[in-house]
Amino acid sequence: MEIRIDHRTCIGSGQCTLTAPAVFTQDDDGYATLVPEGARTATPKQVTQAALSCPVQAIAVGNAPPGT
Ligand code: SF4
Repeated sequence: MEIRIDHRTCIGSGQCTLTAPAVFTQDDDGYATLVPEGARTATPKQVTQAALSCPVQAIAVGNAPPGT
């Protein structure tokens, strides 16, 4: 599953890491990044819930643009 984070949009709210901590983490600056192993094994439900939790629609799944 392709998961993309728009790093220009992310504001570091941390909602994705709270919703799907096996898939998303935060870098040293507080912005979202993917957990490598978690990103490979993530379920669609985990990623969809995390994307829906993002207040600025910075997470995209597959080929869809972020926020859709
Ligand atoms: S929920 Fe959105 S804004 Fe918050 S850290 Fe994750 S990607 Fe960034």
